[in-house]
Amino acid sequence: MATVTLKGLSKSFGKTHAVRDLSVDIADGEFFVILGPSGAGKTTTLKSVAGLVDVDGGSVTIGGKDVTLVEPYNRNVAMAFESYALYPQKTVSENLASPLKSGRTGKYTDAQQKERIDQVTTTLGINHLLKRFPRELSNGQRQRVALGRVLVRPADVYLLDEPLSHLDAKLRAAMRAELKQLGAMSKTTTVYVTHDYQEALALGDRIAVLREGALVQIGTPEDIWRRPADTFVARALGQPEINLLDGEVEDGRIRLGGGAFDVPVPAGVDVRGGDRVRVGLRPCDIHVVGQRADDSGPRLTGTVTLAERLGRNVELTVGVGGEQLIVLSSGREGVDEGGQVTMTVAEHDIHVFAAGEGDTSRLGTGHGSGRTRGGLEEVEAAQ
Ligand code: ATP
Repeated sequence: MATVTLKGLSKSFGKTHAVRDLSVDIADGEFFVILGPSGAGKTTTLKSVAGLVDVDGGSVTIGGKDVTLVEPYNRNVAMAFESYALYPQKTVSENLASPLKSGRTGKYTDAQQKERIDQVTTTLGINHLLKRFPRELSNGQRQRVALGRVLVRPADVYLLDEPLSHLDAKLRAAMRAELKQLGAMSKTTTVYVTHDYQEALALGDRIAVLREGALVQIGTPEDIWRRPADTFVARALGQPEINLLDGEVEDGRIRLGGGAFDVPVPAGVDVRGGDRVRVGLRPCDIHVVGQRADDSGPRLTGTVTLAERLGRNVELTVGVGGEQLIVLSSGREGVDEGGQVTMTVAEHDIHVFAAGEGDTSRLGTGHGSGRTRGGLEEVEAAQ
């Protein structure tokens, strides 16, 4: 068990600033997720904690001890990479047992070792593979065994780099539910890297969103989902991506779509008449009327230009004024291409950002308070 503190961490490769002045405090036993697109600096951050890259500036502290200059094998961290490092000549069972036989963990009795291995193999669904050799495994199975090798080993900190990336969507969803239940993990500080926002929302006690090596936002899944700090974070979470519309404030409302429709200025957003803003509306927060009996809030009417079934939802492209809105509908409203739809969006689901090119900041403290239903389970259900 240990805290992890990064202070002013920086690392460049030539002209590429992989990590820029990154400071975070990770609590003892916390499940901390680093989320960002490819090249955001996630792996470099993880390797800096492990001691696998020499940082250019800043410090890494584990359990109150500055380990910036300490060799990796003396940091007592266990790291799983996206690629799977297994001994080819050993069975799965031997691969899993070997980290427990090293000097540092030699204090475990055979019974304790067996218990740890049993727990991890059950959680990862690999106990039927114990006698096989790595060459006899699929990529997904190999990845789970490699993750198992990390998790059987008691460590102060687990560092996991996209450990579920080679699993199919169904198995990944099942595994992320199981992972958090795993005793070893629930007690050990874990830093988990992913570019999958659903994985981040499901697993993280807190999430740090990185962009081009810099921290953009840090908070609980609830914070990040409900109050994205800027349009980059808002776009990074949610599939399909959040709708971003240019608007102008007038009489306490925001006119959108060239004046074709408007939404109220949400509580906590300090803007004046004439101000230009950008409004973010998530596809899963726009409800076709009829979908929910108690819908209130602004109503918008538009024409469906495209209706595409995605699993249990139908993704609608709706022309409203001069704008194209993406809407996730349940498909039960009988909406067809070419038809008219009326939609509502609740005031607390309206995100307001500064006007401008590129990514811009959230305005005001925004919504999030007083919301009584929904929550992140709604996010999952909507996907
Ligand atoms: P991904 O999700 O694709 O793994 P990431 O967020 O983990 O990306 P990093 O692997 O940390 O990103 O890389 C951050 C930046 O640093 C990238 O632009 C990458 O090309 C660069 N980089 C990383 N390692 C090296 C290296 N050893 N030599 C040169 N450039 C590197």
